[in-house]
Amino acid sequence: MTRQLVVIGNGMAGARAVEEILARGGGDAFDITIFGDEPYGNYNRIMLSHVLSGEESDADIFLNALPWYQENNITLHAGVRVERIDKYSKHVFAADGRVVPYDVLIIATGSHSFLPPMDGLYTPSGSVRHGVFTFRTMDDTRKMVQFAQHEHHRKAVVIGGGLLGLEAARGLQAYGLDVAVVHSGGHLMNAQLGPDGGAILRRSVQALGIEVHTGSRTTAVLGKDRITGVRLRDDTELDCDMVVVTAGIRPNVDVAVVSGLAVERAIVVDDHLRVMDEEDIYAVGECVQHRGEVYGLVAPLWEQAAVLADQITGVDRSSVYLGSRTATKLKVAGVDVASMGLAGPERDTDEHIVFSEPSRGVFKSIVIRDNKMVGATLLGDSRKVAYLTQAFDQGLPLPEERLSLMFDLGSPGEEEGVSELADSAQVCNCNGVSKGTLVAAVQGGCRSVPAAMDATRAGKGCGSCKLLVTQVVEWAADGAVEDDPAASYYVPGIPLDKAALISRIRELGLRSVSQVFAALAPGSAEDAKSKMGLASLLKMMLAEQYIDERDARFINDRVHANIQRDGTFSVVPQMKGGVTSVQQLRTIADVAEKHNIPMIKLTGGQRIDLLGVPKEDLPQVWADLDMPSGYAYGKSFRTVKTCVGKDYCRFGTGDSTGLGISLESRFQGIESPAKLKLAVSGCPRNCAESLVKDVGVVAVEGGRWEIYVGGAAGAQIRKGDLLVTVDTPEEVTLLAGRFMQYYRENANWLERTYAFVPRVGIDRIRSVILDDSEGIAARLDEAMQESVDNYVDPWSERDDPLTPGQFRTSLPLTVLPQVPVR
Ligand SMILES: Cc1cc2nc3c(=O)[nH]c(=O)nc-3n(C[C@H](O)[C@H](O)[C@H](O)COP(=O)(O)OP(=O)(O)OC[C@H]3O[C@@H](n4cnc5c(N)ncnc54)[C@H](O)[C@@H]3O)c2cc1C
Ligand code: SF4
Repeated sequence: MTRQLVVIGNGMAGARAVEEILARGGGDAFDITIFGDEPYGNYNRIMLSHVLSGEESDADIFLNALPWYQENNITLHAGVRVERIDKYSKHVFAADGRVVPYDVLIIATGSHSFLPPMDGLYTPSGSVRHGVFTFRTMDDTRKMVQFAQHEHHRKAVVIGGGLLGLEAARGLQAYGLDVAVVHSGGHLMNAQLGPDGGAILRRSVQALGIEVHTGSRTTAVLGKDRITGVRLRDDTELDCDMVVVTAGIRPNVDVAVVSGLAVERAIVVDDHLRVMDEEDIYAVGECVQHRGEVYGLVAPLWEQAAVLADQITGVDRSSVYLGSRTATKLKVAGVDVASMGLAGPERDTDEHIVFSEPSRGVFKSIVIRDNKMVGATLLGDSRKVAYLTQAFDQGLPLPEERLSLMFDLGSPGEEEGVSELADSAQVCNCNGVSKGTLVAAVQGGCRSVPAAMDATRAGKGCGSCKLLVTQVVEWAADGAVEDDPAASYYVPGIPLDKAALISRIRELGLRSVSQVFAALAPGSAEDAKSKMGLASLLKMMLAEQYIDERDARFINDRVHANIQRDGTFSVVPQMKGGVTSVQQLRTIADVAEKHNIPMIKLTGGQRIDLLGVPKEDLPQVWADLDMPSGYAYGKSFRTVKTCVGKDYCRFGTGDSTGLGISLESRFQGIESPAKLKLAVSGCPRNCAESLVKDVGVVAVEGGRWEIYVGGAAGAQIRKGDLLVTVDTPEEVTLLAGRFMQYYRENANWLERTYAFVPRVGIDRIRSVILDDSEGIAARLDEAMQESVDNYVDPWSERDDPLTPGQFRTSLPLTVLPQVPVR
């Protein structure tokens, strides 16, 4: 009979424990239920630093997205907090009233950010003030990004100069903020580094433009209505608009405490990860205290999860967890940092070898006791980290020539180091991948580094282990490493690059996504991740010849509206060039009133957004509006933002509004590899912000127009490149269209113009678009004209849904729209 396994906490430890249990056949032995109070699947918390800096999108850091739970028959209650455990009747009680019985319980509740006491941190009602942030969850990160993107926010103070603080500081710089770090310790990252290493890290961090105050505490957050600064212990005041607190973490033990479990600094567990004095309750991860230690890094939780799974499934009852020796290998604010054991000597007899090269930001220190390595710090150069980790973990005898521990002097070299690594040696700390797992992936057929990384997740965390992962894969493949051809595929499910894919589709006369899979995918297998990119490509290539298949679309494209966090939709009617009329405004107001629209918002693209519309109301809202869609949701041409222009503005030299409307009328709704935003300004004062658009047009003296391409002002900021200056609006229309068609045909799926233009090079683009160097200009113009001619307002589907369920309410499976973002 299957037993009930309940897990509280859907973070890195909880989900990993379940993965380990499934790997040991636990899926047959248990009915598994997981509660997580974050409303998502399980994501890689480490990667939040990359999400903050804009290097990764939040949608890309999921370890197990929602389908994984379904596929493994796991009941996930996402966004539901467990409040109490009754260990006698063996039930858990959740905040939404749910009561679930268990035979075996795992607590994996992790930690929360610690907010040190200081004046002005809270509002009178007790909540943390607007403008003060912690850095722990996806929601924290999103809020920080939103705030940092505000143009009038200029300076941030980060409280805490440990790993998280430095990551936060570096991330916030990406939004153009000046950042200061205030750290109470005498030097940065004092938990991992000694004072000398800390001093060198400080130089590297300051060289990045980050202000550093060590030995300093914040005593107050200043400002009345909004935050204006912080006060330090010595009464110095630092101006700022936002404060990020990364001053440490505290284990989440509330549930355990109210339920009468053994809690000291954290939940006390034995060597089987069983909670002290409890028969059927286990705990794992940061909420755990084992032999007096509480860990704040992922490597220990991988080891704990494996032992816990051995015990719970009964696969290996002799398995024990004896604690972790934490070796940290990280990339902090772009600087490689590795540290293990002691940061400096403790006994007179300890040997201490130090190499310091401050000008290059390199520092290496090794502590040796009784010919065994008991500590090492590497900063700015972590090439010897594999060998040192091995020496530290296994207590290997060390070479006479101590310097060879730091540098390659012939013994033991990189390759030797890799071959000597034990199979159990952890190569990727972030995802808990050992050398043995990587070697098995290579033996199992992964012949390239990316393939082995995909199969094992190695190297997909902070990235600091990529060199070592590459070395292990190369060693395991015995030199037969292949380049990964998949890197150039247009979509992952079809082994062809874009040009080859287009020509095969043409050759075979394929017209729908399913036809493409049937003809070109290995084994004709359909791949969900490839559908949206293929649908977009086919629509661009075939215009009206394209056979639309609903399941190839994402939810936004299925219902022609933008899904919001709460599962409702936002409706944006078209407002060409940002111009509206009394009638249009009145209609929008009436519709908003009739449908009780909870929020009406002006968008950044000069339109009106009606937010909070339930799915089933969409057709009626469109019918009542009786206006075309404004395409606020698609990977397609969206808007043309315009300024006032010459008819009204004192400075205007060109009719920016007129040209904007005409461009928007012409190109409305055309498919593209990623969204396209345009703007037209009536003079170089550039009120429509044309220089940071995919295509931006600026009127200049003499009635001429400049066309810029490849600009961006979102997560990425880039000034567009000047394509050409022309004499007439007609030339603008022709060349902007030709550029967009060239982009549509050559950009990778989801590649915005800000990446495409520098990749291809503005000179090459100019030569194709202006000089017709490839002889394709006329064809590009015709292809664009064909797409323009085939425009149909998607909201016309309102009277005739394509499927019965198109506008039926369904609970959002995930709070996040599963739409690819870039
Ligand atoms: C920005 C950032 C960067 C990091 N970088 C690194 C790094 O480079 N290297 C490294 O080793 N570590 C890093 N860490 C630390 C690492 O993320 C943690 O060690 C790891 O996430 C701990 O896993 P956990 O499952 O114990 O806790 P968590 O991942 O925090 O998961 C616990 C989950 O339980 C939920 N929960 C809590 N109470 C309840 C309840 N009562 N009911 C239901 N759900 C509940 C929480 O909301 C949370 O989702 C980083 C952490 C952060 C925040
Ligand atoms: S860009 Fe020039 S024309 Fe347009 S509103 Fe600004 S000042 Fe006026």
